[in-house]
Amino acid sequence: SDGVLAGYRTLVTGASSGIGQGTAIAFGRSGAKVAVNYRSDRDGAEEAVRAVEEAGGEAYAVEADVSDADAVTAMVEEVCERFGGIDVLVANAGMQKDAATLEMSVEDWRRVLDVNLTGQFLCAQAAARRMVAQGPGAGPARSAGSIITMSSVHDVIPWAGHVNYAASKGGVDMLMRTMAQELAPRGVRVNSISPGAIKTAINEEAWSTPEAEQELLQLIPYGRVGVVDDVAAAAVWLASDASDYVTGTVLYVDGGMTTYPSFREGG
Ligand code: NAD
Repeated sequence: SDGVLAGYRTLVTGASSGIGQGTAIAFGRSGAKVAVNYRSDRDGAEEAVRAVEEAGGEAYAVEADVSDADAVTAMVEEVCERFGGIDVLVANAGMQKDAATLEMSVEDWRRVLDVNLTGQFLCAQAAARRMVAQGPGAGPARSAGSIITMSSVHDVIPWAGHVNYAASKGGVDMLMRTMAQELAPRGVRVNSISPGAIKTAINEEAWSTPEAEQELLQLIPYGRVGVVDDVAAAAVWLASDASDYVTGTVLYVDGGMTTYPSFREGG
């Protein structure tokens, strides 16, 4: 453990797989206490718990559907009871239900907005209430707390065939920036991480064959597809005092995907 999050009380949502699982493990390795949220994949959550424990840290798995307001309230209360408070939330849980705009059902539109946008709002609101009540400097951090919303490069890049997902991430951007503006005077920091293409289950078809990966690389000037640890490292920084003066910003972790790589040749 490098100890930059020693004693930090943290909650990571959607942490039974992918970016959330990697972030939970990285937090544990940095000395944090980690509540590992999952919706249905208890095994995946327990895997993260074990990895944290093997690194000498403290963790436990907590079930909640982030789109369920009562479940989120109960989860945050439980975390605060177990850990004595909350210093960091990573609102990471998210999903895709893809369809062309002309074909998308209102159910698929609503479900993605419910999880990706309302779910992040509910978790951020519940955590912020506790952070404001704690106040700055009461825990191991200088701030009253750090909230990290897991957005996407699709908070700025339109994405045909994913109108619900892109709308949810565009919404996360203003959710984050408005909360940051509103809560800065109370000592709470709020920032987004916007990953580009990271190898996880959510986008497996985009990188799991050499042909697909080659095509994906056309969008990534840095020349490699991202991995979970690329994002987890950014989350550790945004959670820690190293970023204490940073709030209301988006940290793109995308190998340059947002630099409009198709303009590389100058046009
Ligand atoms: P993933 O599918 O492995 O992780 C998503 C997690 O969210 C899963 O563990 C899932 O169980 C959980 N989840 C879904 N609905 C939930 C709910 N209602 N309540 C609680 N948990 C729920 O994929 P990932 O790539 O690790 O995605 C994590 C986040 O990163 C998402 O918000 C996603 O939009 C974002 N993201 C990923 C990429 C990428 O390239 N992988 C790029 C940009 C943004």
